[in-house]
Amino acid sequence: MTPFFQLLQSSPPFFTALCGIVGLMVGSFLNVVIHRLPKMLEREWHAQCAEFNDHAAEGSLPAPVKGMPPDAHPSGGLGAGSGDDNSAPASVGSGLRTFGEPASVPLAGAADAPTGIPMADEPGGTPRYNLVVPRSACPHCGHKISALENIPVISYLLLRGKCKGCGAHISARYPIVELVSGLLSGYVAWHFGFGLAALAALLFVWALLSLTFIDFDTQLLPDVITLPLLWMGLLFNLFGAFAGLHSAVIGAVVGYLVLWGVYWVFKLVTGKEGMGYGDFKLLAAIGAWLGWQMLPLVIMLSSLVGAVVGITLIVAARHGRNIPIPFGPYLAGGGLIALLWGQTLTQNYLHLLAAP
Ligand SMILES: [Zn+2]
Repeated sequence: MTPFFQLLQSSPPFFTALCGIVGLMVGSFLNVVIHRLPKMLEREWHAQCAEFNDHAAEGSLPAPVKGMPPDAHPSGGLGAGSGDDNSAPASVGSGLRTFGEPASVPLAGAADAPTGIPMADEPGGTPRYNLVVPRSACPHCGHKISALENIPVISYLLLRGKCKGCGAHISARYPIVELVSGLLSGYVAWHFGFGLAALAALLFVWALLSLTFIDFDTQLLPDVITLPLLWMGLLFNLFGAFAGLHSAVIGAVVGYLVLWGVYWVFKLVTGKEGMGYGDFKLLAAIGAWLGWQMLPLVIMLSSLVGAVVGITLIVAARHGRNIPIPFGPYLAGGGLIALLWGQTLTQNYLHLLAAP
């Protein structure tokens, strides 16, 4: 073992600090993912729809369709826990509508080209748009973000939350995502200690973080994150990182089926869609990571937090009863709590039950 790994293993404070710093930098990248991934998917769907409609016009396909996203599913709805009127995006179409512009627009860390989404049908090929290109720029003036202006949290503070080019306000969400990522990463490192579990848990936490914010913004949980997350969970549990393989496989299946069942019961009873397929896949992924034994706790925690937040929003009248509340963030929160304290919580709970 090299001295560096020995140091990581022998000094928890060093490992914690290192992971905290890495977490800050990853947070900066997560900002890009959160902002760009939905736009990338939307571009893809537009391109596929255009292609499909071309085929349909040529008569090789039955009829033109509009906006059918093949690889993400609306999520959200049951968030309030009351389950009442929070219908999720009733159709794919409305899902796409909410999809257009994230709630917070101006940004530096992960800024977009000022013109918005370059469309896929531009002549002479599509301008590249992915997680790497184009470089981040201010959406107001197009000022390219230099490496020095992209230091997690610190740059935001030094710039006092304003674009260096035009002085436009930069959303505080960017340093917040970075900070949350840094703190959680440091905590995970301290909690698990140097080893496979810590590495796996970091990936799990980062994925949950990006899913949370993407779901907030767009009511979608992209398959490109939820599905690899599921497989990664099974893979890590091949080596017993968090649960036995048996438990992980059953967890994935049961996680999916539980919410799928709730969805159909809710739909048959009320005629509405309470949540989306993205939610099923996320809970399947969480089941694959933590094993089926953790699912009741995850569902309980996410419903509890969802109910509290949902009712608060409705009471505060800032949120109409018909506006869907994404459920993904609560599932992610429940998953995170179960990852870190699930064993303790379950043991204490069973202990309480066993007490006379
Ligand atoms: Zn600017």
